[in-house]
Amino acid sequence: MNNKTALNRRVYRDRNEKTRADDTLSVAPLPVRVVVMRMARDHLLPMKSYLLMSFAAMAAAAATTGALPFVMQRTSDEIVVAKNMTSLYYMPLLVIVIICIKAFSEYVSSVSEEYIGQRITAELRERMFKALMYADLSWVQRTHTGRFTSSFLGDIGAIQRAAGVTIVGLGKNALTCIFLIGSMFYMDWILTLAAAIGLPFAFRQIGRQGKKMMRSSTRVFQEHGDLTSFVSQALSGIRVVKAYGREKEETKRVSDAIGRTVEFAMQSVRVRAASGPITEALSGVGIAAAIFYGGYRGITGTMTPGEFMGFITAAMLLYQPLKSLAQLQTNLQLGVAAASRVFAIIDNMPQIKDEPGAKPLHIEDGAIRFDNVTFGYTPEIPVLKDFSLDIPRKQKVALVGPSGAGKSTVLNLILRFYEPESGSISIDGQKLNETTVASVRAASALVTQDPFLFDDTIATNISYGSEQATREEIETAARAAVAHDFIMAMPDGYDTLVGEAGNRLSGGQKQRISFARAMLRNAPILLLDEPTSALDSNAEALLQEALDRMVADRTVIMIAHRLSTVKKADVIYVVEEGRIVESGNHDALLAQNGLYARLYETQFGEDPGAGRISAGDASAEKRAVHGG
Ligand code: ATP
Repeated sequence: MNNKTALNRRVYRDRNEKTRADDTLSVAPLPVRVVVMRMARDHLLPMKSYLLMSFAAMAAAAATTGALPFVMQRTSDEIVVAKNMTSLYYMPLLVIVIICIKAFSEYVSSVSEEYIGQRITAELRERMFKALMYADLSWVQRTHTGRFTSSFLGDIGAIQRAAGVTIVGLGKNALTCIFLIGSMFYMDWILTLAAAIGLPFAFRQIGRQGKKMMRSSTRVFQEHGDLTSFVSQALSGIRVVKAYGREKEETKRVSDAIGRTVEFAMQSVRVRAASGPITEALSGVGIAAAIFYGGYRGITGTMTPGEFMGFITAAMLLYQPLKSLAQLQTNLQLGVAAASRVFAIIDNMPQIKDEPGAKPLHIEDGAIRFDNVTFGYTPEIPVLKDFSLDIPRKQKVALVGPSGAGKSTVLNLILRFYEPESGSISIDGQKLNETTVASVRAASALVTQDPFLFDDTIATNISYGSEQATREEIETAARAAVAHDFIMAMPDGYDTLVGEAGNRLSGGQKQRISFARAMLRNAPILLLDEPTSALDSNAEALLQEALDRMVADRTVIMIAHRLSTVKKADVIYVVEEGRIVESGNHDALLAQNGLYARLYETQFGEDPGAGRISAGDASAEKRAVHGG
């Protein structure tokens, strides 16, 4: 699609209404009333002192504006027509006083209104981030991070702007309109009615724009979400993009999304811009009517020039606040569209939470038991089927099997990242769903195959989750994880920054830091999900010694594709299609001549006995087992 041509055609007029799949998190925008009530209850009421101060200042500013037509009237009648010298002195002074009050009130109202907006933004961001941190892993994983990022930054920013416009609209502009219309009524009510002739029509027209505004703003926000996703994906996968020469395609994808964003933004712009000319035209009609009728009364002598001037001044001053008030509706719709997306995240309730009466897990032995557990990430596709496993205290267990068999899923369930559909999991006889989530997770240390490091120092990354650890303890853990030497060779040692997601370190170095992190946690249960997959044979051999020290006196479940790593386990369970198909120690399993023997054979050649356990190319081994 030629974006520019398409956009040029759609600058002033909507050609065709584009439809888009509903947002995955917020199917329909919430009703305006619901959003306004919630914002008032949750965010504005707690700040009522600032709100009152802001409204008081706005009222003062509005009252001073309402006084200006009278100043004009008196100036005209008393100074210009009656040539009163006293008025010549006190009227300018009065103007200075009025303007000073107006300026000061506007300062107070602007600062307090901005503060309210900032506080709303801060509260929404805090609530949203907390909701994300406590959300179920499955829920977070189902949604692209771009959706969350764009809501966190863009949508909440839009809410802040809409809240500001609404507060000012309802406060300053509405009050100014009331004061000015009151002044006009006081001066001449028939003339006021003549001037207000087109107002009801204007407000009806503007009201109609609301729905359109809601639709187009929702689309703009959705497109922003997509755009953020595309950009973050392309950047985090930049090596793959370059290696596969996809720069052009990625650029096009982002440029199309940018084009769509502009297109939908233009729909909103058109709706918002339309309210200006409508009010302008109708204000013009009103002022024309006022000039005609006021002028007629001036000619016939029933109105003084000052009254006429004062009235026209009021009508002119009314134009700006009236125009802002007219745009209130569209701004409100924009804020409601953004709030609907943000509330969909904030309101998400985690399914995995402490049940009433849940007790902290009390660990004595660290014995783990799976009783007929059935689980699938999507209910219709079970990953574990009637899965039973009994790991006595401090046993070292290895799970092996083809890729996708469900090995990592076993660890996910122990950590309560997911709940089984049926069956139960218990640790030391305590069912996990009857214990607190935090205590279950605190009992385990997890090392994954793709270790994640935060953009911070090495020391901070090692002590993640064990913040009270001293530098000595951190170093001891690093030594045990065979990481100390390479850390000391870095320019700032333990204070070296690892870069985003640890990208300044090699895969093996990252893995060793995650190992040190697990060592420092000193948890009674150790969950190792292919912990040595990123290491070369040499580093693995080094780490093996650390691993031996680490697993002593703990219950350990280790997943490994390299069968050399699992040989030392007390019991090896072979998992296939969500079931345990074989179990025993290495020799017994080889003797069974089943799946384990075949996996072993694929890795180490024709004759199982001839395999050199610690040697071999890691990726080849992994490929062999994955090929299964
Ligand atoms: P590997 O050895 O390749 O790591 P595994 O035996 O550890 O594999 P699991 O990660 O437990 O396998 O995955 C089992 C099945 O569940 C796979 O078919 C996988 O596609 C699916 N699966 C895993 N994680 C998710 C998820 N978050 N959402 C949906 N399906 C998933």
